[in-house]
Amino acid sequence: MEDSNLRIPGPVPLPKDTLEIMSRQMINHRGLEYAMMLEEMSSNLKSVLMTKSDVYFITASGTGAMESAIVNTTSPGDNILSISIGWFGQRFGDISDAYGCKTTRLEFESGEPADPEKIKKELLKNNNYKAVLITHNESSSGVRNPLKEICEVIKDNSNALILVDAVSSAAGTRISTDAWGIDIVATASQKSWIAPPGIAMISFSEKAWKAYKSSSSPKYYYDVKQYKDYLEIGQPPFTPALTTMFALQNSLNRMIEDGIENIFEKHSEIAKFTRTKANDIGLQILPKEEFASDTVTAIKLPENIDGKKLVNDIKDNYNIVLGGGQQKLAGKIVRIGHMGWIEKKDIEDAINALKETLNKKN
Ligand code: PMP
Repeated sequence: MEDSNLRIPGPVPLPKDTLEIMSRQMINHRGLEYAMMLEEMSSNLKSVLMTKSDVYFITASGTGAMESAIVNTTSPGDNILSISIGWFGQRFGDISDAYGCKTTRLEFESGEPADPEKIKKELLKNNNYKAVLITHNESSSGVRNPLKEICEVIKDNSNALILVDAVSSAAGTRISTDAWGIDIVATASQKSWIAPPGIAMISFSEKAWKAYKSSSSPKYYYDVKQYKDYLEIGQPPFTPALTTMFALQNSLNRMIEDGIENIFEKHSEIAKFTRTKANDIGLQILPKEEFASDTVTAIKLPENIDGKKLVNDIKDNYNIVLGGGQQKLAGKIVRIGHMGWIEKKDIEDAINALKETLNKKN
């Protein structure tokens, strides 16, 4: 079967060399080769996340990284501020609930970013938050939160830990982890990292380690101390998704070679190109330009259009896979993923298919 033009916000298509690497034979994850790979990958991951803090690879999807962030820093009964601008923001709050934290939810309309002023007000009202949960890039609405400003407000008005869901932003959008004072960045291999699903990644600050010492949330598989202790001997605590690690090693090396600033610039350019092309065929972008994501574009559909059918028709007739809307946005938007390995031609094809399919409905 011919490969589709997979334009969802992850998993992303993989280049040929990565696919070839994925057919490599298994290795001993407790041997020297793995230790060397882990060391190189950790160093590259720190560069991309702009951090000197510890980083860990965990065999899990992105949600596992989010859960790690919570279980390693909080205790049941802790006050947590969960800022949500959509589906994935709600999920972060749900994990906090699941571990018995007292979660206060600060929610914003779908398609809108979080407002730093409202966050400041909440922090001043209640100054004993243990942690603030925030999504960097909300994949369900194509909104990029003003993370730097939000981190500033959190640091200026509280002593809370800053836990960031960067699943769909990291490696495509700048995150200055240390400079912005982020305690945990949570991300996952199947997004801008240009690898298959299977590996979650987290950064873990000094302040997060202090919180770890007093954290009584139940944990075993996601206990970050196990990852730290094993890292010291060049091993993972548990058998890792080796094939995904091989692919990720390759893409991390390529990122460093290409230069991360160039990668951010390329994402920003292709995102602008996508918005312009959508506007050219008479469609509007859901978020305001200033907050539009560099990795996924959410496009509003005309009211008379059934978005679910549109996405299915485009798949059937063009072999192009677009993302639909989720929850409140179901049927109302289409989303075009443009993270990782992508060319303008992929976007042109997707927009043409969208245009022709919409025209047929008139
Ligand atoms: N957060 C965001 C912003 C995401 O885009 C996703 C995945 N689409 C997740 C969290 C959850 O990641 P996973 O499906 O890998 O668990």
